[in-house]
Amino acid sequence: MSHSGSAESGPLRRTRKRALMQRTLDGASGGLKYTSESRTMSRRSVNRGNLPRGLDNTVDQAGGSGESGSLETDESPGEADDEDDPVPKPIAMSKGTGKGVDASSGGHRGATSHVPNRPSDRLWFHHVAAMRLVVPTPSRKPTNTLEKPQPILLTFRDSPRTNKTRQSSLADYFGGSALDVARPKRAPGREKAVSTPSGRATQLRGSPVTDEEVPRNTGLGSPAPSKSDSTGDSDSDVVITRVSKSRRGKKQLMISRLATDSESGYEEKQSDPDDFTDDGHEVVNAPTQKRGKSTGTRATQATLTGSRIGAGGKGPAKSKRRNQDSWSYKLGIQEDLPPLNDIGEIFDDMVKKLAGSGVKEMVRYLRPRKLKVATMCSGTESPILALGLVAESMKKHFGLNFEIDHLFSAEIVPFKQAYIERNFSPPIIFRDIKELIDSDTDATTAYGAMAPIPGDVDLLVAGFSCVDFSQLNAHKLDLSDPGESGDTFRAILNYARKWRPTIIVLENVFTAPWDVIKETWGSHANYSAEWLRLDTKAYYIPHTRMRGYMICIDNEKMKSARKNVEEWKGLVKRMQRPASCPIEAFLLPEDDPRVHRGREELAKGLRGEDRNSREVDWTKCQGRHQDYRADLSLGSKRPMTGWEDNGSCKMPDFCWNDWGTAQVERIWDTFEVSLLRNARRGFDSQYKTRVWELSQNIDRFTDTTPFGITGCVTPTGVPYVTIRGGPMIGLEALAMQGLPIEKLLLTREHQRQLQDLAGNAMSTTVVGAAMLGALIVGYKALEPGSGEEMAIDHLEDVTKHVRGERHLVENELDLATFKKTPLAYVLRDASRSSRLCLCEGRALMTPNRLQRCKQCHHTTCLRCGGNPKHDYALLPTEAVASRLPPGEFENSLKDTLPMRVRVAGISGQILENIKNTSGIQISSKDWKQLSGAIEPALGVELRFHSLKRAEIWTVFYESPTSRMELIIDSRLAEWRLFAKPSKRENVNSNVRKLLARPFARMRPIGDNLVDGKWQFCFPTEFSFKVEIHGKGKAERSWESKLGLQEPRFRDKKLWSMLHLSLEKEVIPRLDMDISGDYKLLPDCGTAAGCLHKRITSQGDGEDAAPPLFLFLDPSRYGNPLEDYFVFSTDIRRYNYGEQRPIIARLDHRWRPLCSSKEIVRCTVDGQWIDIESAKFETIVPRMATTYATPSLDMNVEFTADSCVAADAILYCKVPLPADEEVGWKKGEWVEVDRLGERTVFSSFAWLTERVRHIKDFGTWRFVDLPRDFDRCQRCAPSPPKVKWRVVKEKLDPFEDPQQAAPYERALKNRPAPFLTHVRIDNDGVGLLKIGLNVSSLIHRAFSNLPKKGSLSDVELSWRLTTDYVPPPKVTLPAFNLRSNKRDPPCAQPPHFKIPLRPEQLRSLSWMRRQEGESVSSFEEEEIEEALLPHLGWRAEGRATKSIVIRGGVLADQVGYGKTATTLGLIDSQFPGEKTKSLKGIPGKISLRATLIIVPHTLLAQWGGEVKKFLGSTYRVLSVPNAKAMNGLRILDFQTADIIITTWSMLNTESYYAKLAQFAAIPDMPSGTGRAFEAWYTYALQRVAEHVDILRDDGAQTLGQTLKAKLRSFEDDEELVRYVPSKRLRGVIYRMAQQAKAEGKSINAKSRTKRKAEEMDLSDDEPTTRKGPSDPFALNDSSVRKDWRNMRNPLFQMFNFNRLVVDEYTYVGGNDHTSVTSLQSSIRWVLSGTPPLRDFADIKTISVFLGIKLGINDDAVGVIHAQNIKAMEKERTVLSSSPFTRVASAAA
Ligand SMILES: [Zn+2]
Ligand SMILES: [Zn+2]
Ligand SMILES: [Zn+2]
Repeated sequence: MSHSGSAESGPLRRTRKRALMQRTLDGASGGLKYTSESRTMSRRSVNRGNLPRGLDNTVDQAGGSGESGSLETDESPGEADDEDDPVPKPIAMSKGTGKGVDASSGGHRGATSHVPNRPSDRLWFHHVAAMRLVVPTPSRKPTNTLEKPQPILLTFRDSPRTNKTRQSSLADYFGGSALDVARPKRAPGREKAVSTPSGRATQLRGSPVTDEEVPRNTGLGSPAPSKSDSTGDSDSDVVITRVSKSRRGKKQLMISRLATDSESGYEEKQSDPDDFTDDGHEVVNAPTQKRGKSTGTRATQATLTGSRIGAGGKGPAKSKRRNQDSWSYKLGIQEDLPPLNDIGEIFDDMVKKLAGSGVKEMVRYLRPRKLKVATMCSGTESPILALGLVAESMKKHFGLNFEIDHLFSAEIVPFKQAYIERNFSPPIIFRDIKELIDSDTDATTAYGAMAPIPGDVDLLVAGFSCVDFSQLNAHKLDLSDPGESGDTFRAILNYARKWRPTIIVLENVFTAPWDVIKETWGSHANYSAEWLRLDTKAYYIPHTRMRGYMICIDNEKMKSARKNVEEWKGLVKRMQRPASCPIEAFLLPEDDPRVHRGREELAKGLRGEDRNSREVDWTKCQGRHQDYRADLSLGSKRPMTGWEDNGSCKMPDFCWNDWGTAQVERIWDTFEVSLLRNARRGFDSQYKTRVWELSQNIDRFTDTTPFGITGCVTPTGVPYVTIRGGPMIGLEALAMQGLPIEKLLLTREHQRQLQDLAGNAMSTTVVGAAMLGALIVGYKALEPGSGEEMAIDHLEDVTKHVRGERHLVENELDLATFKKTPLAYVLRDASRSSRLCLCEGRALMTPNRLQRCKQCHHTTCLRCGGNPKHDYALLPTEAVASRLPPGEFENSLKDTLPMRVRVAGISGQILENIKNTSGIQISSKDWKQLSGAIEPALGVELRFHSLKRAEIWTVFYESPTSRMELIIDSRLAEWRLFAKPSKRENVNSNVRKLLARPFARMRPIGDNLVDGKWQFCFPTEFSFKVEIHGKGKAERSWESKLGLQEPRFRDKKLWSMLHLSLEKEVIPRLDMDISGDYKLLPDCGTAAGCLHKRITSQGDGEDAAPPLFLFLDPSRYGNPLEDYFVFSTDIRRYNYGEQRPIIARLDHRWRPLCSSKEIVRCTVDGQWIDIESAKFETIVPRMATTYATPSLDMNVEFTADSCVAADAILYCKVPLPADEEVGWKKGEWVEVDRLGERTVFSSFAWLTERVRHIKDFGTWRFVDLPRDFDRCQRCAPSPPKVKWRVVKEKLDPFEDPQQAAPYERALKNRPAPFLTHVRIDNDGVGLLKIGLNVSSLIHRAFSNLPKKGSLSDVELSWRLTTDYVPPPKVTLPAFNLRSNKRDPPCAQPPHFKIPLRPEQLRSLSWMRRQEGESVSSFEEEEIEEALLPHLGWRAEGRATKSIVIRGGVLADQVGYGKTATTLGLIDSQFPGEKTKSLKGIPGKISLRATLIIVPHTLLAQWGGEVKKFLGSTYRVLSVPNAKAMNGLRILDFQTADIIITTWSMLNTESYYAKLAQFAAIPDMPSGTGRAFEAWYTYALQRVAEHVDILRDDGAQTLGQTLKAKLRSFEDDEELVRYVPSKRLRGVIYRMAQQAKAEGKSINAKSRTKRKAEEMDLSDDEPTTRKGPSDPFALNDSSVRKDWRNMRNPLFQMFNFNRLVVDEYTYVGGNDHTSVTSLQSSIRWVLSGTPPLRDFADIKTISVFLGIKLGINDDAVGVIHAQNIKAMEKERTVLSSSPFTRVASAAA
């Protein structure tokens, strides 16, 4: 769990919990035991979910465990069933045959072998034991024998995301049908580059706007909307697009071979790099027939005007044209520039370029005032982010303060509003920019209030949707009617006309009719305008995104505006700078936790989709795919995933299989076709970085984007990165727009929303350039500032954030020594702890079985492996058993390594000498460059930085000028020393190439890791000839096996064996002899299935050479034709930025073919020469290094305010070299923020590794807080209050977003549990101080504890562990049920007519115990956890509180007689209770009765059972429906013994209406979920108040109170603001009438009230549920006399002695809420089939028992998909509703 992740989980996910489930058949008895183990998995708090240990005695009995928090696991599956038959027994079994008898011995207890690396004991606890089942039923599905209502709880309340909803939401983003517009002009003749026999151009490399703007189908619904066809040879500006209705015409396909098929496919085409066709947008080349498969969702209109239609009038091709693939290699990034991928550095570069352009003058002109900026529809607020980055760079380069004042945003999409509020918090967010022109002064904000429209805007940046142009042309445009069209463009234009912002920057698709727009701005608004087409990839970022940008300057404020906008074009162009880094430089590293989270979310999201659409989808696309395959002769195979029509799919083992298998057929086949297509082009996609847009149909996206860049990121696209085997995640998509993702608060957005944000964002670099240019040319039109200097902000003094360092005890630290461990041991342990399957990641060990390929030694687990096939054998059990947890090896390795070290004995002179004496041939140019570049790297101090576990271990050392790696695999350890190239070196410079390889290396020998002979690599390219003989059989080539149909592929063969020989004298110059026989291993993967392994052994025994391989090692972005075969011992997949060490490489033209004998040129890139003088030297600092830690009796003070500062816990002082380069200012303490933490700790790892272990704080330390401590707002800010408004006469709760945003910010700004301070003294002493804020953790844990009862018995404690290793992934055991076999039978109940059976009596005795006084308490626990993963530290604050729960879950099986047992319980306890006086409870009327709530269908049955077993001993009150309540009085409830009712009775609208009346609030909101719950909670609160009034002051007072309260409700300003309803109905109406009848004056100011009065006159008397106006008979004299005569009481008014809920599993939605909130002293749940799948299931049970178990962990595999769905609904109902509800209500 990463530290950095902690702020990213949403605030609603305060607590996460993973329940370990264990489903076990209780072997001895065949009974199911019910236990669960639950433990925290997160840094957040945990509410201990265990039921009271004493709640179930069987726990103690069976397990003998009673220790709080002791670790227990029940027997794992598989070892349980040695005694009994686990097969489900028929119900007859239950008839007391003894089968249901518990013989569970404690013998299996403690068997924990199935839980590897058990986490610390605290994390485990014993859980819900109060559920029991006697008869074994492994299959726990509800039987059909009982009539049961539908299991509401489990149904999807959320309608599955359908294509339709997606379509419509997209329509929002684009303002409707965004798809139809224009296509730009193509250079004449370009399409002739490739022609079909028919002479029609087929490769129209135009980039229609639709490519970017079309709502993409992601394969989840129906196929992508059909693509509009276009005329290929139009020569007008725009052409008409339309949708053809014709059906897919497979039969109409003209079968004509394309001549080009036989061409190489590398056809080089010349094209103008500035042309938009380079952008990788796809070709519209498929014929009409294929287009016809539209579902009609996106009928496209040709609404352009005359002249344009004329041009396109020829319409689409009439005959079907064939798909064709003409492809040539092209690199999209410019490598002759220095690499730039940091967004801050990018802006530095941009701003530097502007020196001398007037940018400084602009800033000086404005100062000291801020630039006033407004944004409209910017989505992500890229303009604001860009201006922020510009400001930083200005300060850095010109020392100028440039500040902006964000006046307002306008955004219509709710989640974007929330994003803006959270991250930018502008004073106003307007909801709809259209309103800005409707009103003269005010407009509605996102929150529904009215706010004045700011008019004084310097710079307005706006995006607008392109649909607007369908109506827009200069002649027709009628701007006098602004409200009419509703388009955003008009709104912006009219805003400008009215408010005159000085400078405007507009963005839209580049195909918008910009010239018309320009003209419009001039003629209608008096602005000078100019526009440009700008592409993101021309502005630093390798992302094709062509957009039009326009600048408008107010002519009224600037005379030269016309001229200046012209200048703007030049300025913007001047800032151009092509991307020099490829995509991967902008993506996150593969093992970044955020990538993992994104992956899980994406995979999970897919699994939740409606799978029915799948077949539909595929049948619609199938023909299209077949056509495409046929056209390109790709054959029909599915080599990549091998997907089958039955739904199985297996992606290659490096891919995101969980995500991939959840895809639909169309996407699977898209994988296949894309792979085949690239194979045909000559490369293996899985070893090159390509981005496949999977949302596109196969003939639409043809994968022709130049290498290194990505196609346009769209809101709904699925950009699959081939080398990753998974898609870009949403965050990465944002990074591709140049957004500083590390700085944004993205807590609530789903992946899809992030992608939506990204897809609609403006690239920061582009909008930045456009704005900067605009400001420079237009600033003189702005109002000048006074010219004074701006006040410089003072830096906060951070020293007071950490206190108490004086109390630390100082020790000296010896960094020079390290343990000496023989190399052989290190190698052994390294291989024992290395990663054996990708799924293990950096720290895990899979519990799955493992397999290793006999040929290439590749390993996977059984679940992940299988594609490619390999030649697997299971890993022997000894090998698995001897595996070592990676964390352990890591720690021992660190002890073995020097932390500060230098490689001495290599100098320029020494190297020069060696070069001269060894006779190495090297070009003087190379040598000069190399020696110059490595000079600074020689002899410098290297410090331990980090280590990484993968298939091999790698240890990293760093210095400013060099880096060093130690790689350790099972055979070899090797140090590799690299020099770092200067940042200014171009990407493709020779120096970079030379420095990509290590310049020195050392292979340790003997008894430690630091002794060995160093070698230097002379970068000499040395070539020689090798002879390659084919041997063995001729095997089918990769292409042939892929099923490519063209003869050149189909018939391609290669030898199964190659013999390679070379001249003897060459061998000494090689690192390793490469001659011998190489066997082809086609099933072992590597690029193009071309792995060869040398089978002739070289040397033997200890000296045996490692296996050598010959294989294709493609570059990630290079021309496939230049990829070469290499000799290497290492065939792993490498990550971006890593380089494979190779022994030699073959000429790039060589490919294995079935020719008999070839002479091939072979090249070695460097020659290794020994340097005797070189050796490791440890650094002896000039003064001692010290560290200080707290003494054992460290006294942490705990008060309400103690969390303001952290307590120092580690303080290091270390002398650094005088010239140490540090990133921070000397002499001042710097507080490291979360983002910087990784860097700082990596750079201090050499120091902290040796001091991070602080003993003595690993056990819980108990602390006290002041008595009156309540909630610390600093550490646990109160969540936003639920607010109320009336919507359609109902009360509707919503979360106030104006409060929600500060709340989220407050959460973000909570005191950090760990604080890191660093400082470099002027004398070069480095100081590192770490503070721990335990108080904050305690405050948080305390605040999270359920507030129930007294808080004085809350126990608080904390601890700090310093050797924390994230727990490996475990397979969670299932929950199980405990048997009652060991319970002693109870005496027969006194009044029972039919005796209970023995097993029922056993259950009864247990039930009685559960109700008894002796039942032990249950500990609710909250733990707040904080991690400092860089140090392996974990701090926890804990709050625990005991509560007593009486009751439990009776889980005897269906038909077993739970009813009888329960009645027995009532009977056997009544004698005592009858006499017991009932204590009054505030807000409740205490009853002695047992309330039994049953499904409607069981009501009669229960009545019968009561009669049958108890005769007429007790007063039974049966309430079948709401009507039955009418005649009842409170007194009837008070005198009853047993009350039976149904859930449905409690959940009728009329019942809730009554509840509303008694609570004096408007009726409940519609729907379920949090909205209902909030209303209900509110109602209950008022019911309790009114019960007290009734009891204490009588019915008359209550009657008056109700009226008064209802009225006050109406006068509530807050509410009234939200009342949009035209008519008053329901309660409010009645209230109004009553009030009027009583002659009370009504607040005349209230709009609502006025309407209420109007209502009186109308005949529109509401007809909804009307009860009598006084259903409780409060005016009745008998009631006024004695409140107990009150009629129609509510169940919510009582506290029952006992509550029994039968078959709770079918209680869902509002039933659930209403039943769980009923109050009782004892609670029982009866269920023969409690769901036990996961923690969420257990929670549904615990809720009935009144126990809070905390928030679910929704990690994949832990929680059942349905429960995830339900949880997500809970989470979002409020956050998403406020805006939409208001809007809909207003409509
Ligand atoms: Zn695996
Ligand atoms: Zn293999
Ligand atoms: Zn606090």
